[in-house]
Amino acid sequence: MIEQLKKPDGFILACLDDNFNWQKEWQKLDDCSLRCVDSGVIQVKPDADSFEGVVISCGIHGNETAPIEIVSQLISKIIKGELKPKINLLFILGNPASMKINQRFVSLNMNRLFSGAHTNYTKDAENTYELERAENLEKCVKVFYEKQSLSSRLHLDLHTAIRPSFHKTFAIRPHTDHLFLPGSKFLLRCLGIEAVLQHNKPSTTFSYYSVSQLNAEAYTLELGKVKPFGENDPDDFSLAINCLEALVEQKNLLEVELPDSKPLKNYEVVGEIIKQSENFILHLGKDVENFTPFPPDFVIAEDSDYVYRVGETEESVVFPNPDVPVGQRVAVMVKTV
Ligand SMILES: [Zn+2]
Repeated sequence: MIEQLKKPDGFILACLDDNFNWQKEWQKLDDCSLRCVDSGVIQVKPDADSFEGVVISCGIHGNETAPIEIVSQLISKIIKGELKPKINLLFILGNPASMKINQRFVSLNMNRLFSGAHTNYTKDAENTYELERAENLEKCVKVFYEKQSLSSRLHLDLHTAIRPSFHKTFAIRPHTDHLFLPGSKFLLRCLGIEAVLQHNKPSTTFSYYSVSQLNAEAYTLELGKVKPFGENDPDDFSLAINCLEALVEQKNLLEVELPDSKPLKNYEVVGEIIKQSENFILHLGKDVENFTPFPPDFVIAEDSDYVYRVGETEESVVFPNPDVPVGQRVAVMVKTV
């Protein structure tokens, strides 16, 4: 296993190889030990004791290639001894089956299946893979934090967005009662994040699972735009890469180069637009960017007996997608805090 993973894209290739023999026993490296927990899930334990555990997941949507390449590169650097981990790490390549077919998912959007949402479906031949995968990934993260009694818990779920965004990079902070501390804001800035969207209620994302069930600090990070494998420019992601490497080696983040001194822009959710019937109309252009602001009173959407109109202050639209089935979310409306 080790030889294959040493290659920069070794982790990707290993996950795509049906015949690859995942080894679940610990393998000793120079400064740490490494083992495969499940297909696409690799655990790293530093030689020196650490109570810190960081989960770095990617590819929950299989076509989001840049994060998959970033994680693969981190693993190969650890195996080659170029990175010396000082903390416990769990690397997750979320959806190998959808990576293989170069799609966002096989049959279900996996980032709607966590926090137990995978139990809301009746399994059939088509949807079984993602339902079981979400359940397995929940278990992997839970066992990682709890079995080693890790008291400091961070989970970064890396994504790239389908549509362009007014903020090139942003984080979604799941609903939580915990304060958003300056150290956390600084970490996100170091990762190259421009804006944070604070979610106002429970959801079924992977990051919300870690926050709500495992008491971890967790974020969904949108690091840029989706591109095919091999077409990503590492320079576009250099801040995130440098910061993740510093995290792995537990280096002082103050030494990580920041893009500028601009503070994080904070947004909160003010409303959700749900498609209630087939008569639904979204009054936004097809190519509207995430976080595009709209003035007060602007009519965003209309349905049989429903209108969404912007309130008294400017609101921005995030994740607009009118092509969802009736009953599902078409867009989230946010405003700056
Ligand atoms: Zn995604």
